[in-house]
Amino acid sequence: MFYHVKELQFNARVSKPDPAFATLLLEQFGGANGELKAALQYFVQAFAVKQVHPDKYDLLMDIATEEFSHLEIVGATIQMLLKGVHGDLKNAAEESEIMELLKGKASKEGFIHNAMVNPQFFNLSGGGPTLTDSNGNPWTSAYVTANGDLTVDLRSNIAAESRAKIVYEYLLQHTNDPHVKDTLRFLMTREVAHFQMFQAALATIEPNFPPGVLQSDPKYSNKYFNLSNGEDVRGPWNEGKSPEMGETWEYISDPIEHVRKTKGMTEGHGKTSRDPKEVDKKNKELSKKKYDEIKKAMPKGEAQWSKY
Ligand code: MN
Ligand code: MN
Repeated sequence: MFYHVKELQFNARVSKPDPAFATLLLEQFGGANGELKAALQYFVQAFAVKQVHPDKYDLLMDIATEEFSHLEIVGATIQMLLKGVHGDLKNAAEESEIMELLKGKASKEGFIHNAMVNPQFFNLSGGGPTLTDSNGNPWTSAYVTANGDLTVDLRSNIAAESRAKIVYEYLLQHTNDPHVKDTLRFLMTREVAHFQMFQAALATIEPNFPPGVLQSDPKYSNKYFNLSNGEDVRGPWNEGKSPEMGETWEYISDPIEHVRKTKGMTEGHGKTSRDPKEVDKKNKELSKKKYDEIKKAMPKGEAQWSKY
């Protein structure tokens, strides 16, 4: 159940209209890394989690709801930045605040030209936010990722928060309005907070690597293919031990020869310290554990989502 509170989560303010920045800010309203995408991603992910991990359901729904609050803040800011913009820019808006701001014919022409980058925004929206990105591409559910595996979803969310954060960081460079900057800094900071919440939640699920249930095959898991010529570049991604599984990286400097010699990775290539029998055993154990976990969490007979 949703309940709308009339006050914004953050006191969004705007010093003066700025339709160009309003257009840029649309990116966080209806764009690929925007607030609606974040809200709906966590909201959709939450359903599959409710019975098995009720604590993570709570987390996902709280953050989803906060993202809706951010969507509201972004929409309100766009609206305030568009103060005085009407559909008919040349005529009806001639005496508006926005036209007063744009002194002289050249800046008016410039404004109209800029508006044409995303003409729908100004001409069809009537001067309100639209569910598009800053180029006018309509919002799509293809932005939302939900895989039904909590360790996968939490990692997607850490990536989503990283992208949302950097978009706010870039947006901060395109406005000088101190009030708008305050709002953007608040929104950016909350994404950093969410990043850590998802990271902490992931750490409570053990084991959480590799994502899903099946273990990776020790025959291929530690190989680094040097697939370019020139100088060999080495780093912790191809020398020493792998970070999650602690296997020693094998650096294959001549992958063409390696593939031919091993008949397409089917014979005579090295393996890691992991025993294939142990891998089989772990696959069976973890499958059973996950299956039992889900089965145990599902109530028998009639289903009811909430307790009253
Ligand atoms: Mn947000
Ligand atoms: Mn967030």
